[in-house]
Amino acid sequence: TYVVTDNCRGCRYTECVTVCPVECFHVDDTMTYIDPENCIDCGGCAPACPVGAIEPDYRLAADKKFWIDVNRKRAAETPVISARLAPLPGADERRQALGR
Ligand code: SF4
Repeated sequence: TYVVTDNCRGCRYTECVTVCPVECFHVDDTMTYIDPENCIDCGGCAPACPVGAIEPDYRLAADKKFWIDVNRKRAAETPVISARLAPLPGADERRQALGR
């Protein structure tokens, strides 16, 4: 499964939502999460993310593996997002700070 990680926090551009063929994405006030039960590993969302927040689980660095559990838990607790939202305030500045 693919996993949303920390770069999404505070940006939440939601381009991922427009490319996902199976509506895996869930959302809260800070970021998106992928429902691992629905993800078909198409890989479309990873290059679509402007801040590189999305990676396949097997490629996560050791210190980012905890995002697998976070995505599973938060996807179960939050609503599906099926259309783009405006990025969070300060998202562009944050993206620049990340060197993206
Ligand atoms: Fe959706 Fe494909 Fe990304 Fe899985 S890998 S969340 S199916 S776009």
